Amino acid sequence: MSPHISSHAEKNMIVALFSYVVVISLSAWYLLPRAWYVWMGIIILGLIMLVRWHTELFVYQCTSCHKTFKISMIQNLISPHGISRGGAGWTYLTCPACGTRMRARVISRTEGMTELEMGCAG
Ligand SMILES: [Zn+2]
Repeated sequence: MSPHISSHAEKNMIVALFSYVVVISLSAWYLLPRAWYVWMGIIILGLIMLVRWHTELFVYQCTSCHKTFKISMIQNLISPHGISRGGAGWTYLTCPACGTRMRARVISRTEGMTELEMGCAG
C-alpha cells in the first residue's frame, strides 16, 4: 500500500500561508509609517514559524527506494520544491538511505509515520 497525499495537511498549509499574507498586508498599513522594524520582525518571525511548521508536518519519500525520511528546517528552506502535474508536492533532495538525488514526494507526517515504522522494522 502506498500513502497518498493528504489534502487536509496541504489545505492547512495554504490557510496558514494566506493568513500570513493577510497579517503582513494589514500590519504594513499600520506599522510601516510608524515602526517598520517591528513589521520586518513580524515577517521574519512568521516565515520561520511557517517553515518550522512545514518541516514538522511533512516527511519525504524517495522515488527510488521508497524510504521516507525527514529533513532539517534549513534543508526545507533552501531545497528547490514545487508541485507536479498530478498536484502532488515534491522537494529536490538527496535520499539518506540510497543517496539518489531526486524529486522526493512530500507526504504528511501522519501518513508517513506508518512508512517510517515499517522502514525501521525492515
Ligand atoms: Zn532512496
